[in-house]
Amino acid sequence: MEQMNRPERMKCLYCKNDLKEGVTTYTANRHGYHLTIDNLGAYVCSQCGEVLLDETAVNAIQRILIELDTRLKGLQKMAA
Ligand SMILES: [Zn+2]
Repeated sequence: MEQMNRPERMKCLYCKNDLKEGVTTYTANRHGYHLTIDNLGAYVCSQCGEVLLDETAVNAIQRILIELDTRLKGLQKMAA
């Protein structure tokens, strides 16, 4: 997951092409669960397809994952 530091300059980190607003599917494969978020607003490179999430989305997803970790604790029996 890439984090955007300068929102005013929407350039691809890899090929320096302009990024366009679009959507992506975000997938988190965690120990014990797998989260897929469809139609997540993102910036997409028209050249190489690199996807950049804005800071708000990154922070929100991190909170969701922390919440899931907390809620699932004790519900799942992990194979050691
Ligand atoms: Zn690119």
